[in-house]
Amino acid sequence: MITSFNPATGETLATFDAHDDAHIEQTLAQADRAQKKWAALSLSERLPFLLNVAKTLRRNKESLARIITLEMGKPLAEALGEVEKCAWNFEYYAESSPGYLEDLIIPSGATDSRVVYDPLGLILAVMPWNYPFWQVMRAAAPVLVSGNALVLKHASNVPQCALALEDVFKEAGLPTGLFSTLLVGAAKVPALIKDPRISAVTFTGSTPAGRQIASTAAEALKKQVLELGGSDPFIVLADADVQAAATVAVKARFQNTGQSCIAAKRFIVEASVADEFVDAFCAITRQLVVGDPMSTNTTQGSMARLNLRDELHAQVQASVKEGARLLMGGNPIAGSGAFYEPTVFDHVLPNMTVAREETFGPAAAILRVSNAHEAIRIANDSPFGLGAAVWTQDIELGYRLAHQIQAGAVFINGMVASDPRLPFGGTKASGYGRELGMLGMHEFTNIKTVWRGPART
Ligand code: NAP
Repeated sequence: MITSFNPATGETLATFDAHDDAHIEQTLAQADRAQKKWAALSLSERLPFLLNVAKTLRRNKESLARIITLEMGKPLAEALGEVEKCAWNFEYYAESSPGYLEDLIIPSGATDSRVVYDPLGLILAVMPWNYPFWQVMRAAAPVLVSGNALVLKHASNVPQCALALEDVFKEAGLPTGLFSTLLVGAAKVPALIKDPRISAVTFTGSTPAGRQIASTAAEALKKQVLELGGSDPFIVLADADVQAAATVAVKARFQNTGQSCIAAKRFIVEASVADEFVDAFCAITRQLVVGDPMSTNTTQGSMARLNLRDELHAQVQASVKEGARLLMGGNPIAGSGAFYEPTVFDHVLPNMTVAREETFGPAAAILRVSNAHEAIRIANDSPFGLGAAVWTQDIELGYRLAHQIQAGAVFINGMVASDPRLPFGGTKASGYGRELGMLGMHEFTNIKTVWRGPART
């Protein structure tokens, strides 16, 4: 049984029977047939479907955003933004795919030699609940346009989002089977990966689950892209515009109720500006309005599940015991919803729980350092390597530090964010492979060399 519940109220919204083996078999067989027909179409025949998906998302934006907010608790305004971004992603790939998939001519000893981008086949997408539309759609657009089909196993707490996504593709007129949703638990994933019709897997979620998926896929010799957890550093150097940094820092930490892989989690601040940064950060955090995610005034909704809130609270309590200085928050908010107080720690040390572990909720850790060198050392002293931000007015220094930071993306004087145009992904325990942009699109193609003779040299 898969249950849809509202984390802001605790109320059960709907229950669904998990799909059984017969349904899974039928879905894979249909997807396989659909993919073969789809791959035989030319790119220009596939492109209009992408634009239809974008239009369908925009047409249903309000109702889709409400499903997101109901199932995972983010403020409605953020859910509307998420649906809008998905539509942009489909438009972006409709426009860019002809260039990205164009043959790459590489002069060699042949009469003609080139790289062509062929589809891989059926791609399994195992996805998380935190951006229940965006995570799926950022993978789906490039996967589909390059001639693949996608089978989605979404997180078990967002079944209505999963089904709504399938409906979007239906309404957009995409051939049946090219995008299918399986309502199944995590235990079904290994068999899906091993199924001979599945060519590759894209996974977004926690590092422990990523390890298991990687190991099953490795055994089956199937390509994987892994987008895993993060504990992004947000470095503020002494010459930074501290007020601007603090404003962006609060958004970077508390957006999506802190439940973002690329949320800034460790604020590493040079001691000479640390007091100013902490004062500004706390003042702006106090302005957050925590409450009913459906209300337009709300800027921080509920967390997605009570057990996730419990995990965050345990990390907060451990950090208090370890000596981190709690400046605000630190407690669950009473009631049946999974709300948590916006929480800020100062004087955090790298070995404390809030700095060492990924905190997936509204809790910020501020670490004070004596110089840029120490900031980079501490930023890299983490198992994760997803995103990072550096704030400095010395742009040359910013670029130099960007090279020294172990991360898949470094944003100078800004907040790490995904963008359809730019590759996105991690290093270290944050995973491997890339999504988005041209490089993300090529992940799920067969990059094939085609050589034509006679040899000229
Ligand atoms: P999760 O527990 O790993 O779940 C993600 C998905 O994997 C769900 O569909 C889940 O299914 C499935 N799953 C869980 N354990 C599995 C296993 N052992 N084998 C196969 N599938 C498994 O992660 P989450 O709590 O939903 O999401 C939060 C995590 O995702 C955080 O660590 C966050 O940083 C990371 N994340 C990373 C990115 C990125 O782009 N790097 C983006 C967003 C989130 P069930 O729901 O049925 O258990």
